[in-house]
Amino acid sequence: MRKDGKTNIRIVVEPHRFRGQSDDSFMDDCNQIKSQIEERMRKDDIEKASVTVEFDTWHECSICGREWEIDEDTNEPACCDAAVDEFRAAAEGGETDATEPS
Ligand SMILES: [Zn+2]
Repeated sequence: MRKDGKTNIRIVVEPHRFRGQSDDSFMDDCNQIKSQIEERMRKDDIEKASVTVEFDTWHECSICGREWEIDEDTNEPACCDAAVDEFRAAAEGGETDATEPS
């Protein structure tokens, strides 16, 4: 017979991000909420939890907005010709690591 259990039990706090809010501004809001939760936990003597602000990172082309990828064959940007042109100009200009998104 199947036995059911709960796993990955957690408390989720999802801050509201207003339209057009920058990453930095939203991170500030998240850290402020984190501090408020921690302060409340200290007041109530709650020691059974910790609070962290977590995020994932991603890279996109600053020209076309598509995900930043390097073509394995050409070793150049795979998204658009303008990115390739910029990449080549940077390489000719002596920049050492143009594969990193700027
Ligand atoms: Zn592009």
